[in-house]
Amino acid sequence: MKIETVAVHAGHAVDPATGAVAAPIHLSTTFERDVEGSYSRGFMYTRNNNPNRQALENGISALEGGAGAAAFGSGTAAAMALFQALAPSDHVLAHVDAYYGTTRLLRDLFLRWGLEADFIDMSDLGAIKKAIRPKTKLAWMETPSNPLLKIVDLAAVAKIIREAGALSVCDNTWAPTIQRPFDLGADLILHSTTKYFGGHCDVLGGIIVSKNDNEFFERVRAIQYSGGAVPSPFDCWLILRGMRTVPWRMRAHSENAMKVANFLGQHRQVERVHYPGLRSHPGHDIATKQMSMYGGMLSLEVKGGAKAAMSLAAKTKIFTRATSLGGVESLIEHRASIEGPGTTSPEGLLRLSIGLENADDLIEDLDQALR
Ligand code: PLP
Repeated sequence: MKIETVAVHAGHAVDPATGAVAAPIHLSTTFERDVEGSYSRGFMYTRNNNPNRQALENGISALEGGAGAAAFGSGTAAAMALFQALAPSDHVLAHVDAYYGTTRLLRDLFLRWGLEADFIDMSDLGAIKKAIRPKTKLAWMETPSNPLLKIVDLAAVAKIIREAGALSVCDNTWAPTIQRPFDLGADLILHSTTKYFGGHCDVLGGIIVSKNDNEFFERVRAIQYSGGAVPSPFDCWLILRGMRTVPWRMRAHSENAMKVANFLGQHRQVERVHYPGLRSHPGHDIATKQMSMYGGMLSLEVKGGAKAAMSLAAKTKIFTRATSLGGVESLIEHRASIEGPGTTSPEGLLRLSIGLENADDLIEDLDQALR
């Protein structure tokens, strides 16, 4: 089946008890035990498992082509479970331009906990080879990266990491359905489902999908139910509902972003546009090889630094000044001031999450704000 069909049907079935076409939400935290003490219907207690969570995990796992998935209460909780599944003194190779919350998690929490990490530019294959150690167990790939939209060659990095005997994870939050990390050799996929899966800025979630049923994924699963950072049944229901339209939304986000990037690329007040769909982007060729579309995220650097960037964001009328991404509405944000101390975002950089409005209206809005 093609991706649009999988997105609509995976994780969904007509409710056998009532015939309901839209799945019921199972709020019950506890489930009845059989007379002889077993749980033949598969559910015992909602922290361990719940019908809505199971449907979400089956759905996203099918969409990504994995063997299984574990859903969490946020993308960060999912990342945390991956790091917790490692052992103290294990070494992690992290992308220098990864989502700053992931970097902060590693740097401020897990280094103290005993993990070792190197933050390198994953678009530099030589740097990866040099940084690998005998204790390297996990490599973090994120592409397009945040907020510089750097492109990591997933197939090339996954090959290097596999040959080193380690696992590779791809944070695929920015490119669901338009980038297929398992086909390119990744072992694990992470999504902040808060973003394109939810699709409406109204639910927080995260998920880890594993290509294979292996010991590492069993540890992630154990952390999920022992640690308890699980999403509510309603949140799972919302995210699975969002999944049904994600391929079509990604198409529209990508088309709109391409138009906005082309406009910004030619504007005299704009110093640089970071969008992999532009031929001038240094990762354009690799992005074209590994993505079917270029996604809905882009960054621009305005002439005049932080002041000019803040002034542009203040003047937009359709774009909302807010963090996050992946919703139907377009958002604009000054990353350096959101990320705070230690940020590597250029001062004049604004990150845009291009929504599903008409691209002409978005362009007109940016045009008047740039005057
Ligand atoms: N990964 C990426 C690429 C993100 O953009 C984000 C959030 O912005 C996260 C992970 C963290 O997800 P959450 O906010 O759901 O914890």
